[in-house]
Amino acid sequence: MTVEVVKNYINGKWVKSKTKKFRDVINPSTGEVIAKTPLSTKEEANQAIQAAKAAFWRWRSTPAQTRIRHLFRFRDALETHFEALSEVLTLEQGKCLDEARGEYRRTIENVECAASIPSLQMGYNMEDIAAGIDEMVIKQPLGVFFCVTPFNFPGMVPSWFWPYAIACGNTYIVKPSEQVPLSQVRQFELIHELGFPKGVLNMVHGGPEAVNALIESPDTVGMSFVGSTPVGKLLYAKCGEHGKRAQVQGGAKNFLTVMPDADLDRTVPALMTSFFGCTGQRCLSGAVLLAVGKVYEPLKKAIIKAVKEIKVGNGLEEGIQMGPLASKAGMEKTLSYIEKGIQEGAELLVDGRNITIPNYPNGYFVGPTVFDRVQPQMTIAREEIFGPVMSIIQVTNLDEAIDIIHANPFGNASSIFTTDGKTAREYQYRVKAGNIGINIGIVAPIATFPFSGMKDSFFGDLHGQGSDAVNFFTENKVVITRWF
Ligand code: NAD
Repeated sequence: MTVEVVKNYINGKWVKSKTKKFRDVINPSTGEVIAKTPLSTKEEANQAIQAAKAAFWRWRSTPAQTRIRHLFRFRDALETHFEALSEVLTLEQGKCLDEARGEYRRTIENVECAASIPSLQMGYNMEDIAAGIDEMVIKQPLGVFFCVTPFNFPGMVPSWFWPYAIACGNTYIVKPSEQVPLSQVRQFELIHELGFPKGVLNMVHGGPEAVNALIESPDTVGMSFVGSTPVGKLLYAKCGEHGKRAQVQGGAKNFLTVMPDADLDRTVPALMTSFFGCTGQRCLSGAVLLAVGKVYEPLKKAIIKAVKEIKVGNGLEEGIQMGPLASKAGMEKTLSYIEKGIQEGAELLVDGRNITIPNYPNGYFVGPTVFDRVQPQMTIAREEIFGPVMSIIQVTNLDEAIDIIHANPFGNASSIFTTDGKTAREYQYRVKAGNIGINIGIVAPIATFPFSGMKDSFFGDLHGQGSDAVNFFTENKVVITRWF
């Protein structure tokens, strides 16, 4: 099998990086190296910036109706190549094919949403703010934006940003995760075939050197980041230093609360997809289960039964419900948290270690794991594991559940399972998390809504997707007019 060395895409051309540093791209089901990502140099990032800068004025003065024609064509290409794109995603990331397909559905939805920019980018006005004087707001593009994205949704996350940015008239640079570059490479191959104007959309692979060059350049205006909180905080501060707009979506530790009145037949399947879907590597994955009052025993019993039915294996194969961790490091991190949970005194109800998957001895597999008798101060209840580990905490009432949620620094998502409207409303009203679910396991906002987040899960004010993205990628200019 030939190992592809992926290329940068600058000014409408595929460019081989001159770097001497590469990262292996590994199929996590087999452990095989399938590609290599160049860790591009500062100079290469600057070439992309200069291409995007040169393309800006022409693109921003292209009518919005013409700009979005490119997005419509890209959307159709995503539909045409839907299966092939989903397979590449599974190959490099490990998630099941159905999960990859779901990821591409949301990608397409974001492109569609951005294609409605002629209505989303409209400003507003008012006559006679004083006698014979009118005032209006125009939403103008700013220049060169870029995104820095994580390994868990390599097909979708860049689409929370770039389609909106370019639809508004900005030009753009995508910096994919160096662990999983292939999904973006395949998308850029389509973009290349479709003949997007040169320099409008560029891609630079790499790590900190490329990212720092993008932030430090006087010719970029803003960054969208999605990734871990420590890196996000660092880059948010750096953007501040360099006067850049920034929207930073960070890590998560999501608490799901089950009330005594919950409908368990429907709740438990939702919990399974929340905690174990995408092998626990969603920023919206359940991490801690708060079992309130008398639901604890029947819930625990139902969970153990359901967990044992989850089929783990190579996500490309039919019937598989949970793939491997996306990397060896991710697998080792998950295993070390399981050790930590045992050391700190939690009870290991279902042990996902030492799982063997026939034909895949080198895959990064950890089975679904459930800890019971977890205490809020334990490491497994506080830190982001980003693997298929459920920690159950028994609580006496809703107030205790909310206190535990609020003691955690993250605030990405939280859900309640209940049949009582008043309890649900109280949860929605009080819980400090950006995405709240009521009888929903994975609180994933559709493209027309912001992908929210609070506390240590988000830094900035405008989120990805929908009208938040449009506001992030535009500047409000006020014009006041009087005709003599
Ligand atoms: P990461 O922080 O390691 O990497 C994210 C990106 O930052 C990558 O492109 C990487 O190249 C770059 N990067 C890493 N270190 C850097 C540095 N020192 N300087 C400059 N750039 C650097 O995150 P990850 O492991 O790829 O992704 C997993 C994390 O992403 C989890 O914490 C997860 O919760 C989070 N996530 C959050 C959301 C959300 O919407 N809040 C969505 C998806 C993933």
